[in-house]
Amino acid sequence: MAGMFDNSVVLEVQQATDIVDVIGEHVSLKKKGREMVGLCPFHDDHRPSMNVNPVKQIFKCFSCGAGGDVFKFIQMRENLTFPQAVERLAERANIRLQKTEYRRQNTGGQGPEQPEEVDPNRLAKANAWAAKYFQKTLEDVEIGKLARDYVAERKISAESVKKWQIGLASSAPDGLINAAKAQKAPLKLLEQAGLIVGQVQDLSDHRLADKFVNRLMFTITDVTGRVIGFGGRTLDENGAKYINSPTTVLFDKSNCLYGLEQARHEIVATGTAVVVEGYTDCIMAHQFGCCNVVATLGTSLTAGHGRMLRRYAKKVVLVFDSDVAGMEAANRALDVCLAQRLDIKLASVPQGKDPCDFLLAAGKEGFERVVNGAADVFQFKWDRLTEKFGKEDTLAGKRAAVEEYLDTIATGLQAGKIAEIDLGLRVNQISRIIGLDSRQINAELNRRLGRAARAAGYARGQATRGNLAVQAIDYGQGLAAAAQREMLEVLLNEPALYDSVRGKISAGAFDVPVLAQVAAILFEALDAGADVSLNQILARVESVELGNCITGLAQAGHEKGNFESRLAGAMETIARYQAQKQDSKLGAVENESDFLRSKHKNAGGQNRHIVGMVE
Ligand SMILES: [Zn+2]
Repeated sequence: MAGMFDNSVVLEVQQATDIVDVIGEHVSLKKKGREMVGLCPFHDDHRPSMNVNPVKQIFKCFSCGAGGDVFKFIQMRENLTFPQAVERLAERANIRLQKTEYRRQNTGGQGPEQPEEVDPNRLAKANAWAAKYFQKTLEDVEIGKLARDYVAERKISAESVKKWQIGLASSAPDGLINAAKAQKAPLKLLEQAGLIVGQVQDLSDHRLADKFVNRLMFTITDVTGRVIGFGGRTLDENGAKYINSPTTVLFDKSNCLYGLEQARHEIVATGTAVVVEGYTDCIMAHQFGCCNVVATLGTSLTAGHGRMLRRYAKKVVLVFDSDVAGMEAANRALDVCLAQRLDIKLASVPQGKDPCDFLLAAGKEGFERVVNGAADVFQFKWDRLTEKFGKEDTLAGKRAAVEEYLDTIATGLQAGKIAEIDLGLRVNQISRIIGLDSRQINAELNRRLGRAARAAGYARGQATRGNLAVQAIDYGQGLAAAAQREMLEVLLNEPALYDSVRGKISAGAFDVPVLAQVAAILFEALDAGADVSLNQILARVESVELGNCITGLAQAGHEKGNFESRLAGAMETIARYQAQKQDSKLGAVENESDFLRSKHKNAGGQNRHIVGMVE
């Protein structure tokens, strides 16, 4: 069942991998009884719905139904096929897979029959290779000198250069291409990673060029440490100050935070994530020992960022530049975080400095003072309102300022971030400043809430539709289907009880399609060996949907308990059902003989068509 890999290899990888570690890299997990719980990354989760069972090595979301073993998690989370997930986790566990066990697709070739499908694992490897190349270039005594001077001028330490895998794209327009050709690195993959521009036709093609030229290279990793992209800062002020890798299957800057890999543990430990805007701001914060800091990649905070942060942190502090652009970016980010029910605060570094310069001037204590003194969202918005209200001469301008404030209050109410009592105070405040009756303000707020509720309902509908494959498992109708389900629920929990089933009921007795699939896998495994854990069963299953289904059955069975009597009941029902089916088949045969008899009787007779119509 395990496709291109031998089942023993799959099990070896599974045994060398702890599901709690793997999921813990993506979601902050808390102990709850014997299980771990966290926010489910597969639906828009607001309370921890995902349970991870360290003993059984499975996960299950009670909200959207996603579940399975560690392979299913990685398949879903990183959009990988089953073999790709095995490969990924094997690599993580330092298990060397034999090439014969997994015949790679020829994505390195240059033929026109080249499959367009991009393998994320291979793309990450190509990126990692490039990251090494950029680092070597920075270390090069001659070529890297100017860039090293710049790094030193920015006070980035040698340890930071190493920790953050900072490198250099040299001023040669084809430095990376030549290195790739020399080391036989696949150009096609580098093109797919967005590191080479132009169509890769053949190795001697001269129309190719490096995407990053004469830039200091910041290596962007995902939370598990895979190299997913790059940010390049110009060293000769040619072109944009910063450019990033293009969007690929691995990299989407609106869903990616720089430094999350390095900051994750400290964010979970402190419950707080500090968000800055630039690579160097983030690096400098860590260099000064503020290790719960991440950076957006030249975008303001998106809903995707909010969702990512919510899995690790309760509170987010945005540190922004105190110029107009910084204020505007912070203002946009506020509503995003509020809607994600994140506790959000705002801080700005004084005197128009960026956080990097400020850290160099004021040190760790200074930066922590700024973070700790961060302002409440509503206070920030209120200050903005009063300031604007004072400055705006036109009625339309004043009105826009009030509307903006009301929008924030409505979002806060929607997210449950404003208590009733605070609301009264705020309405009075607004009423005083704009001279509008508080009832009118409440009516305005209600109108916004209605709109927000409709939008949320729509979003929920969308999310539900997205998870339809997870939820819409058809377990069949009626007693017989329920008994089939029951039997699997029991056997997945108590495989030893299979002894009483063996020889009496076979997988062929299951006629609900999904249950028949599970029974086939389970019975085959049980017939082959004695004790089969849920995890070993899951490792035989490639499909994510079937993994969800098996985990769901096991979980439901576990909760109901009472295994022996339930199995006995299920067996009885299934046996009776089989007998009935047998009977009706026999009945059909009998009818057929009747028919033949009557046909025979009427053979000499009158109207054959009447006989035919009896059928
Ligand atoms: Zn879920």
